[in-house]
Amino acid sequence: KKYLEEFSERKRLYNEVIELKGNIRVFCRCRPLHQAEISNGSASVVDFDSSQENELQIICSDSSRKQFKFDHVYKPEDNQEAVFAQTMPIVTSVLDGYNVCIFAYGQTGTGKTFTMEGTSENRGVNYRTLEELFRVTKERNSFMKYQLFVSMLEVYNEKIRDLLAESSNQPAKKLEIKQSAEGTQEVPGLVETSVYSTDEVWELLKCGSQARSVGSTNANELSSRSHSLVRVTVVGENSINGQRTRSNLWLVDLAGSERVGRLDVEGERLKESQFINKSLSALGDVISALASKTAHIPYRNSKLTHMLQNSLGGDCKTLMFVQISPSSADLGETLCSLNFASRVRGVEHGPARKQT
Ligand code: ADP
Repeated sequence: KKYLEEFSERKRLYNEVIELKGNIRVFCRCRPLHQAEISNGSASVVDFDSSQENELQIICSDSSRKQFKFDHVYKPEDNQEAVFAQTMPIVTSVLDGYNVCIFAYGQTGTGKTFTMEGTSENRGVNYRTLEELFRVTKERNSFMKYQLFVSMLEVYNEKIRDLLAESSNQPAKKLEIKQSAEGTQEVPGLVETSVYSTDEVWELLKCGSQARSVGSTNANELSSRSHSLVRVTVVGENSINGQRTRSNLWLVDLAGSERVGRLDVEGERLKESQFINKSLSALGDVISALASKTAHIPYRNSKLTHMLQNSLGGDCKTLMFVQISPSSADLGETLCSLNFASRVRGVEHGPARKQT
């Protein structure tokens, strides 16, 4: 009973916040300058306002400044704990039956994988999320029974690969998106592994992430050209009223957003970059259509948005990390990413953007 009261209070407060701000959040994270960038004299072009946690300015090559506002801005010195502190309430809402999507967007080398996967010393959002989900499910043990399942997949050139099937040497199946009888988008045949402990999750995430590089001569290169997705499915049963919930949390490390000049590449590489451009702009179109409450949401324009259809829109929660580099050498791409993220954040709820 206490849980139900708590739940309806949380839902009421949540709806109030949605009324005020919409259910799409954009956090910007700037990585530190690398040692090599410092050595070759690269200066930081990002200026943070110490009194504002949600603003930054970019110093352009003609010394003019462009200002951007997001829901939160993380500076180079902000660590993984700091980033997770604001992410946690969004990811744990999957336990209350919400579908949630978290994306890391940006140029290759800006820290998308660092934010989502992290390293063994600096674990990222994916691991911390599961750790927190285990903690909360234990806390609610007296009235809610939860089961957690993890799937991992990759979208490369508009084809879906099952990373957990590959990491356990199962034969590769052709995966397609199908609509279920209830009208939800499913990927039949995708491996779903039940998980019970954080140690097990860490191993699983590592195996899945290693499977990304299979068949590639350069693991880093390939991973920057595919979207990597971790899906956490939560099945809950309330032992007081028997109510069941099933919801999905998607943790998405997107392909690098850098523009590839048509003249620089040909063949496979050109095809890849066209697929990436198409799916990233489809994602931008979907989120900005949702933010501006457009009637038609163009989910079907890419595998990524089609697969995530049930977890984007409605009362689903969306968080995008726009990752940027502070280096003057990356200025052009940084401005592109910040403009993309501002568009995604929506015109209706976003504050007036001052651009000097
Ligand atoms: P991406 O996934 O966008 O291609 P990576 O996550 O691989 O980028 O990051 C590139 C490099 O920068 C990695 O060596 C990573 O450890 C480092 N890095 C990125 N962000 C941070 C950060 N916030 N703090 C420390 N190192 C970072």
